[in-house]
Amino acid sequence: MSLTDDLIALYRVDSQWRGLRSRVDSAQDVLRIRERKLGEVRSLHEEAESRRRQSQAHLANLEGEAADFGARIEKLRAELNASTTDKQYQAILSEMKSLQSLRDEVETSQLAEMERIETMGREVEELAEQVADRERLVEVARAECAECEAAVADRLGELERERGEAASRIPEKIMTIFDEVAEQNEGETLAPVMEVSKRHREYSCGSCHVQMPYYLVVNLHDTSSGVQQCPNCNRILYLETAETEAS
Ligand SMILES: [Zn+2]
Repeated sequence: MSLTDDLIALYRVDSQWRGLRSRVDSAQDVLRIRERKLGEVRSLHEEAESRRRQSQAHLANLEGEAADFGARIEKLRAELNASTTDKQYQAILSEMKSLQSLRDEVETSQLAEMERIETMGREVEELAEQVADRERLVEVARAECAECEAAVADRLGELERERGEAASRIPEKIMTIFDEVAEQNEGETLAPVMEVSKRHREYSCGSCHVQMPYYLVVNLHDTSSGVQQCPNCNRILYLETAETEAS
């Protein structure tokens, strides 16, 4: 078999292999993207939860302060009732008033904190729903990924073996070019040279249809000169002969 025949044999198995691989790859991409989104929503949920916990702790402190002020005020009220002089009475009363105004401030802060906690509670709930939705999406993608992998696993294994055999017949240097071009063109690695006009020596790339310099066509007839690539799309060129058309 000539190099061209070997390349065509490799191309056939390689493009099938790449087609199947890309199905698995895109299922895996979907899964990865969904897992990342889930991670983002989860950390937002955790942050909101921790802000809510901090607020709840702050509210508990404020409740403690308010209770302290309350107890002190009650104690003063008892002292006030037991006071014997007007001077004593006025002094206790003024202390009570200042404690009461401090307690009012604390109670105002308590109300504001309670409102904040309520708003945060809604936020936490919404985020929890989003997390649950995202978890479902990840599960769906994971199942689809596993299904896709299972569906193609056997065929992919076969193709990998066939591809290895076909590749072993190609010189290493040419194999490197083949892999590069295959990556660039999503597995459409080879292109036939089309004859536009033999008389005018006009030929074009069978894939991108750009006109070929004539020397490339000449080189293609000389198998010792390695492979020729389309100057436009980079694909590896081959001449369609009666054999390659028939096979
Ligand atoms: Zn081309």
